[in-house]
Amino acid sequence: MTATNIEIPNDLLPADGRFGSGPARIRPAQIEALTSAATEVLGTSHRQAPVKNLVGRIRSGLADLFSLPEGYEVVLGNGGSTVFWDVAAFGLVRERAAHATFGEFGQKFAKATDTAPHLKSSLILGAEPGTAAIPTPEALAEAGLVSSPAEAATGESAADVFAWPHNETSTGVATQIKRPAGIAEDALVVIDATSGAGGLAVDIAETDVYYFAPQKNMGSDGGLWVAIMSPRAIARAQEIKDSGRWIPTSLDLVTAVENSAKDQTYNTPAVATLLLLAEQIEWINGNGGLTWATERTAESSGLVYDWAESAEATHPYVVEPADRSSVVATVDFDESVDAAAVAKVLRANGVVDVEPYRKLGRNQLRIATFVSVDPDDVRALLACIDHVIDALK
Ligand SMILES: *Cc1c(COP(=O)(O)O)cnc(C)c1O
Repeated sequence: MTATNIEIPNDLLPADGRFGSGPARIRPAQIEALTSAATEVLGTSHRQAPVKNLVGRIRSGLADLFSLPEGYEVVLGNGGSTVFWDVAAFGLVRERAAHATFGEFGQKFAKATDTAPHLKSSLILGAEPGTAAIPTPEALAEAGLVSSPAEAATGESAADVFAWPHNETSTGVATQIKRPAGIAEDALVVIDATSGAGGLAVDIAETDVYYFAPQKNMGSDGGLWVAIMSPRAIARAQEIKDSGRWIPTSLDLVTAVENSAKDQTYNTPAVATLLLLAEQIEWINGNGGLTWATERTAESSGLVYDWAESAEATHPYVVEPADRSSVVATVDFDESVDAAAVAKVLRANGVVDVEPYRKLGRNQLRIATFVSVDPDDVRALLACIDHVIDALK
């Protein structure tokens, strides 16, 4: 049988066939909200109440979702997480950043600070894809990046930003979010939560900046960045700006903080993205908040990992169970199955975007188990994959 004419029986198919890791599933109810609100907000001024109220819903909804400690602020701007890396290189890193990298996204932020001409070269703790790392002073010293743990806090090579991804979307590895012991009192913990936010547990008090773009677990469209900032992070942005560093206006974090406080962005946002995001946040909060969301993603991803461990031709790509993400599950196939062929058949049957991250180059499927994905759809997907594997034999 050739891949192209394998038909998956209708009763096996998931209700919704979107399992991509970003842009990711947007729930039909959100799209309906878009239609019903269309003439009130779409195509209206972002400086007037209807759109500002939307930004206000996002800011207060996130404050609830993450139980924000006193003084933390929700800040937003245009350009997605990639642009936020530049915002951070200009407005958060005083002299030197320390990063842990174990996949594509962590590496890209490390490159942004490392190559910025106004900053000292970054301390980059690299780990193999499929594993996790945290740039603690101990780990940096162990890797020989600093001469001792104390050196990372106060020495010549001290870092003033410590950054790593909550969830490395390219590999399906999640990390624990905890302020590393022994870093300087005013050092910032800056976490890339693009795919983790709202799907993985977090104590925001352990972070200074928890940032994301909303096209992943937050079930909206791309093009926006959202950063939850601690008082320490807000003070740092102000300190750097006051130092006279040249900062392009569109990347100016203080300008973003000031605009966000007025429920607006510095320049025109995509209003539909804001609306979809507000709907998603309120949907999560209405169902029981972060506890509900993390139980749901744990259930969905658990189905994938259990299946991958029990099936003959598959195993979870991430070897260490504690590192396995509940929002992006990666499954390796042995040589008896061509994962790319499986993905192709699924796609021809309307089940899309389970291909692995392109640069990882593995015989793998990557399945997003974001909060928008019903666990029953994951059950159906796994039955579909079993069906396709059999049919390809
Ligand atoms: C998708 C992703 C990004 C990039 O987001 P953009 O909005 O496309 O810039 C950054 N970090 C992580 C962890 C991601 O998953």
